[in-house]
Amino acid sequence: MSERVEIVSIGNELLIGKTLNTNSHWLARSLVSLGLSVDRITVVRDNVAEIAEALREAMQRSPNFIITTGGLGPTFDDMTLSGLAQALNSCLQLNKKALKMIQEKYVEIASELGCETLELTPPREKMAVIPEGAEPLPNPVGTAPAVTIKWKTVTIFALPGVPQEMKAIFEDSLLDPLRKAIGDRARFEASLHVSGVMESEMAPLIEEVMHANPLVYIKSHPKGSENNPVLELHLSTTAKNIATAKTLVGRTLVQLSAVVEGAGGKTRTGTIPSAGS
Ligand code: ATP
Ligand code: MG
Repeated sequence: MSERVEIVSIGNELLIGKTLNTNSHWLARSLVSLGLSVDRITVVRDNVAEIAEALREAMQRSPNFIITTGGLGPTFDDMTLSGLAQALNSCLQLNKKALKMIQEKYVEIASELGCETLELTPPREKMAVIPEGAEPLPNPVGTAPAVTIKWKTVTIFALPGVPQEMKAIFEDSLLDPLRKAIGDRARFEASLHVSGVMESEMAPLIEEVMHANPLVYIKSHPKGSENNPVLELHLSTTAKNIATAKTLVGRTLVQLSAVVEGAGGKTRTGTIPSAGS
């Protein structure tokens, strides 16, 4: 069984159509490539009660990990950590380690700007106010540290909304604990491009091949139209190691190609590059 993750994206801009939620797309792709299962992606606005409710609901489902993005910054609408504290029934407090990280950032920025100091104003200090018991995680790109805290068996990570910051912290601080949780399990996926067979004709053939290969998931993605059918059949599996995963997908690919050709179609294979490549 795969370790389960839920993603909670936070931000009004995501719900008014201003910003495309590329963070959750990137995270889902990265997490699934590692061998985790992403069970749910929730999007909520910048509102403490709504953030807390979404987190509490996710916590009750007991995934191994919850990853939030957005709302860690210095502005009034950055409320993720208040929502997290409310969901945990804990309080917010100034964290010395986080404050040190932020101070060091502003010393760095001041020297880059050629000024002597940049004062630690209340909005800057706000980024060091985190739920009691939480640990700050360094942000190598921006100023707001990320945060992690464990609740029962659930490990929660709160990451910033700015995509480059979110990705850098994921790579620096999340990859190790995620890999440790997964162990040796690996995922492999490939695509079979099919032309000349309608999706409606393919449906029972896919079912037949899936039935013979229950560990491999096959999803058809129509790319043409019913009278000029072009389909991408995406095959994926997670297994105890990469060799087993490749064997399972490879065997299914061969069987699928045979049934497509039997139905008068043409096939072309393609493997999927892993996330980040
Ligand atoms: P900051 O410290 O910059 O305020 P933050 O953690 O508070 O970071 P937000 O204020 O929520 O993050 O978002 C900052 C910017 O990041 C947004 O203006 C938006 O452009 C981008 N962003 C936020 N969430 C997402 C997302 N889910 N997908 C893509 N981009 C996002
Ligand atoms: Mg912000």
